[in-house]
Amino acid sequence: MPLRIHSIALGFDQCYVVQSDGIIAIDAGAPGKGRKFAKELKTAGIKPEDIKLILITHGHWDHVGSAREIRELTGAAIAMHDCDAHWLEESLKPLSPGITPWGRLFTSVMKRFMPLIHIPGTDVDLRLGDEDFPLYEFGIPGSVIHTPGHTYGSMSVMLDSGEVFVGDLAMNKFPLRLTPGLPIFAIDESKVMDSWRLLLDRGARTVYPAHGKPFSVEIMRKALSKTET
Ligand SMILES: [Zn+2]
Ligand SMILES: [Zn+2]
Repeated sequence: MPLRIHSIALGFDQCYVVQSDGIIAIDAGAPGKGRKFAKELKTAGIKPEDIKLILITHGHWDHVGSAREIRELTGAAIAMHDCDAHWLEESLKPLSPGITPWGRLFTSVMKRFMPLIHIPGTDVDLRLGDEDFPLYEFGIPGSVIHTPGHTYGSMSVMLDSGEVFVGDLAMNKFPLRLTPGLPIFAIDESKVMDSWRLLLDRGARTVYPAHGKPFSVEIMRKALSKTET
């Protein structure tokens, strides 16, 4: 079946549903977005039970928040990197520090709001490690690649055709960024750069961020070269 990428808008961010011979979901939005996800699936003509895997790019509140609801809706297995998995299992809400002046300000404001946010915890079925996790058995031509930096357990889904779903390894949406580029929060900025070099080496062509619209990887190549000069 030809590849189809559905962007499912969930407010602050979006998740993606990737359809080929099988169907997977990437990320699970902020808390309380299960009904919106179900509605958008219906509009896209996808049956929830046809989704077999929910791959969560990292453990932040706006990516794991509706994981339990989406799992209950679809019956799919949840996959996360081992480093971040316990955040979802234990309903934890860590933030990564800001690495730009705006990122630092944003994080300090977010910290005040975090007590209002509750993550419905759920088990992670597949704890992934640092090695690639191929998606062929799920009917998707691509692999999950460990791309740490935004968090230690951040992962990207790279399709063989060059589309790469990076979670928050890049950002392209107000109020985080006005233009596409590097994340404004990271646990380890140098690892963000290393992960981008890896994705470029591996043939990334189009970047699908969790916050904002897709864009050409050339923007990331330029952003990276600026940090090297
Ligand atoms: Zn994040
Ligand atoms: Zn995010």
